[in-house]
Amino acid sequence: MNHKGILTVLSGPSGSGKDSILSRLAQKDPQIVVSVSMTTRKPREWEIDGKSYYFVTEDYFKKKIETGQMLEYAVYGGNYYGTPKAPVDQWLSSGKTVVLKIEVQGAQKIREMYPDSVSVFLMPPSMAILEQRLKSRETEDPDEVARRLSIAAFEIEQCSLYDYFVINDELDEAVDNIYSIIKAEKLRTSRMKEIICEVIKDA
Ligand code: 5GP
Repeated sequence: MNHKGILTVLSGPSGSGKDSILSRLAQKDPQIVVSVSMTTRKPREWEIDGKSYYFVTEDYFKKKIETGQMLEYAVYGGNYYGTPKAPVDQWLSSGKTVVLKIEVQGAQKIREMYPDSVSVFLMPPSMAILEQRLKSRETEDPDEVARRLSIAAFEIEQCSLYDYFVINDELDEAVDNIYSIIKAEKLRTSRMKEIICEVIKDA
């Protein structure tokens, strides 16, 4: 009936909890798929190539840009990050809700290219808690933590550009809130045109 999926962007400072939320969302609903990004950043100890990210060289990444295979990309903390285009197109045409976990520059590009996309900004409860989360995960050295905190301040300034704002104070509640957003967005009249036509055709 409704064949076109919804493109959803989730942004939020590093350490705001995007990964935990997305893995729970994908478990909750098989119609939700999370896009796997490509990056030139080095993998963290537990990260799996092809699952956490596609870890590639800068040359490879640039070739993907040149050949039009990236939906969007941005440079963050000196590394390239981007969304491979083909799988997103496929999921959308099969009616899936596709979530892109991307930073603010990429989110802006998606809003421009896909005006019917939905964007959610995930906020940590406070900057102090964000700093504590970044330090306790011990994946970045102190310089990198400082760099991520200053990028966070820049990102938070742009939260008003997003359609929705969710505070990740309690994980289950944040997951429920984002799931509610997705469910409500699916019911937007503008997305239901095919169904409406079918219903009124027999009236
Ligand atoms: P991290 O190094 O912590 O995994 O990611 C750093 C930032 O890059 C996060 O804000 C993350 O959401 C963002 N990011 C991850 N993948 C992409 C992508 O494909 N495109 C863009 N624009 N940002 C991404």
